[in-house]
Amino acid sequence: MNVIAEDIRVARKVHECSLCGLDIAKGERHLAQFCKDGGDVYTARAHLACQEATERDGWDAQDFEYNDQFSFRTETLGMRS
Ligand SMILES: [Zn+2]
Repeated sequence: MNVIAEDIRVARKVHECSLCGLDIAKGERHLAQFCKDGGDVYTARAHLACQEATERDGWDAQDFEYNDQFSFRTETLGMRS
């Protein structure tokens, strides 16, 4: 998976955060990453706070590849399940 471009966007509708799996609310600023995976092109979206958590923890490509949304919420964000 390659990130072609990324941008901070304002959500025009509700999206799912690719990191924590929770909703990105309409009107919320978030990170939009345009990705290419083989022949597929898609947009992955994430809360800015979730993105910051991955930077703080120094995530590499493998961490993103094998991210588990439940573990992300409980371990990385410290949320109660
Ligand atoms: Zn999130």
